[in-house]
Amino acid sequence: MKFSKLRVVGFKSFVEPMEFIIGDGLTGVVGPNGCGKSNLVEALRWVMGENSYKNMRASGMDDVIFSGSLNRPARNTAEVILYLENPDRTAPQAFNDADMLEVSRRIERESGSNYKVNGKDVRARDVQLLFADASTGARSPAMVRQGQIGELISAKPTARRQILEEAAGISGLHSRRKEAEMR
Ligand code: ATP
Ligand code: MG
Repeated sequence: MKFSKLRVVGFKSFVEPMEFIIGDGLTGVVGPNGCGKSNLVEALRWVMGENSYKNMRASGMDDVIFSGSLNRPARNTAEVILYLENPDRTAPQAFNDADMLEVSRRIERESGSNYKVNGKDVRARDVQLLFADASTGARSPAMVRQGQIGELISAKPTARRQILEEAAGISGLHSRRKEAEMR
């Protein structure tokens, strides 16, 4: 699976629909302080299933919705869509029936958020597992936040182990086992 495009609408500072093409090789995002670089990475993490608003530098999940500026009113919804190419059909079985995967998450003020894969409603859990299996999950070491290196150094052993498990691609297995044990 390969990320090919990110579409962001009404998320944090991205009030107008914005499409970010992710090409082959290295992609750099540059710009002055406060222009939205971290917001863009947060949009990516959010659509992959991040459920901690603290990890989104917010004081509630509704804070990811554009909150208005001097000349623009606040929005009531935010949406992020991540487009994945799946030409080798390496996506987890449940989603492996197409060459393209479109993963979307939409939030409405005071109503929470919902996820879709290729237009079908899915649980947050399904999206989290999709990425956990590909070792790219919202908490994976593939996404390094500002300040995260410092946190890693001072982390408790159990928290550090979780990061290593995600890197080894086995955190999806653990989650599935927990789910199976609860049934
Ligand atoms: P730096 O180079 O300092 O790391 P950055 O490019 O990473 O900056 P961000 O942190 O992504 O910048 O963007 C911060 C901006 O996003 C601030 O101006 C903040 O007001 C704005 N912002 C954050 N959340 C919202 C929101 N819900 N609605 C509108 N604007 C928001
Ligand atoms: Mg930043």
